[in-house]
Amino acid sequence: MVPFSYSRATDAQTAAGKARSAASSHVGAPVQFMGGGTTLLDLMKLSVMQPDALIDITPLERRYAGITTSHDGLRIGALARMTDVAESPVIFKNYPVLSQSLLLAASQQLRNMARVGGNALQRTRCTYFRDTTYDQCNKRNPGSGCAAMDGYNREHAVLGTSDDCIATYPGDWAQALIALDANVELMGQNGPRTVPFADLHRVPGNTPHIETNLAPGELITAFVIPGPPSPRSVYTKIRDRDSYQFGLATAAVALRLQGDTVTQARIAIGGVATKPWRAAAAEQFLQGKTLDEAAATQAGKIAFAGARPREHNAYKVPLGQATVTRALLQAKQLDVQV
Ligand code: SF4
Repeated sequence: MVPFSYSRATDAQTAAGKARSAASSHVGAPVQFMGGGTTLLDLMKLSVMQPDALIDITPLERRYAGITTSHDGLRIGALARMTDVAESPVIFKNYPVLSQSLLLAASQQLRNMARVGGNALQRTRCTYFRDTTYDQCNKRNPGSGCAAMDGYNREHAVLGTSDDCIATYPGDWAQALIALDANVELMGQNGPRTVPFADLHRVPGNTPHIETNLAPGELITAFVIPGPPSPRSVYTKIRDRDSYQFGLATAAVALRLQGDTVTQARIAIGGVATKPWRAAAAEQFLQGKTLDEAAATQAGKIAFAGARPREHNAYKVPLGQATVTRALLQAKQLDVQV
């Protein structure tokens, strides 16, 4: 690990100002914010990330770690710990997809440390990205090539890929937020702004080292889920080992039904795409349909219509389709009082 400076944030806007000269959403940015540090410190030990300066934002948690509900919806501070969100009684009951995504995302020890803001920004698990003995990685070293393209790409993405990067977005919480139409509140050097969470992450295109649309120095301060609760929501995660593993295919689903008829469907998929992926065409297909096994199966197929598999990951297409189908049918079967 190379030497770096360490400072503690006193308020969000000042912290954003200090980091403004460095785009903190970039892998190679020289200034990085640190919350729980559960991804960042790993990557620093591996020399994948080598910032000159860390700004510890945990002193801001008194202001940005609350969980509140109002007639406008649910608000979760970005510095809330994964554990506190997952085990919040109101979230567990009214937004089960959020609780489930966090409980399936990490060990108890990690959930106790990691903050939900940082969790949304976690880096890919691509082996070639995390192992600096491989020279070719456009995400770590722009313009160097991509060792995964013709390498071992069993865990890589089939949706949202480019000729420069096929790395999978590894998270779970992000898909749950998209299924609930969440917004994200940001603080920059010029003040706050709010954007749809689904617009936060970028597909790699020809700049895979730029992973989000955060402005230089901008901090996530909260997630806001508008509207009434979504008790008919589930998170389904398929992985090699159920005890602890990143997802090979995941689906977050939030439904509103009238009888068996879909009045609103929200579907986000993970483990298969370069960013948290909204299955908008599958949502539209389900609108007004009777939700049965045939409709759920067709929705799964539609969700993967644009898939581009590589040599070792073609299995992700049928696996992902089946994961969407399963999540939809599980959500339908929930015993929900409306
Ligand atoms: Fe790097 Fe992306 Fe290629 Fe992995 S898939 S080696 S992260 S450029």
